[in-house]
Amino acid sequence: MINLVLFGKPGAGKGTQAAFLKSQYQLFHISTGDLFRHHIQGATELGKLAKSFMDKGDLVPDQVTIDMLEETVTKNPDVKGFIFDGFPRTTAQAEALDAFLSGRSMGITATVALEADDDVLVDRLINRGKTSGRVDDQDETKIRNRFEEYNNKTAPLKSFYIDQGKFHSVNGIGSVEEITNRLTALIDGLL
Ligand code: ADP
Repeated sequence: MINLVLFGKPGAGKGTQAAFLKSQYQLFHISTGDLFRHHIQGATELGKLAKSFMDKGDLVPDQVTIDMLEETVTKNPDVKGFIFDGFPRTTAQAEALDAFLSGRSMGITATVALEADDDVLVDRLINRGKTSGRVDDQDETKIRNRFEEYNNKTAPLKSFYIDQGKFHSVNGIGSVEEITNRLTALIDGLL
């Protein structure tokens, strides 16, 4: 099994690259952001809760996020592996993921960070906001708040995975294809 964590700030290109990696390595792609947006569209209780956090650019509370992630993994027992996109985003989530996977005789193969400067990312997100309809992409204050959440809660995961010998990073600036090539070169070297 190959289980990849795609790591990076909002706008780093995790979703774009996951779409490619999923077919290249035949993996099941789980984006917690997409799962939440699906719940919002369906107006579920979880969707209403998630929206109250997402619209401000805050993280959704850990336990609901962890439960949703675990349910999605459990529902897909026969896949070759997973791409976790946007999860884990806190130390509590990373610890829960390790415990959950090891309970199923699985584990994280590698964590790959897409690195880019904040100013480039703000421009990308504002541009995406023009077409995505995402409230959290349309306002620079909300975007900056997502970076703040990332710096405070998600950035510490870098040392969490470095300590496990599983952290790798790739330059996230360039064309989509250039970045895909960097990612596949890295992942092929790990397999
Ligand atoms: P981006 O990486 O551009 O922020 P996502 O779709 O991954 O986009 O996330 C959008 C929002 O969904 C986040 O700002 C947060 O509110 C919520 N979210 C997604 N994943 C998580 C997570 N693992 N933990 C908590 N909140 C999350």
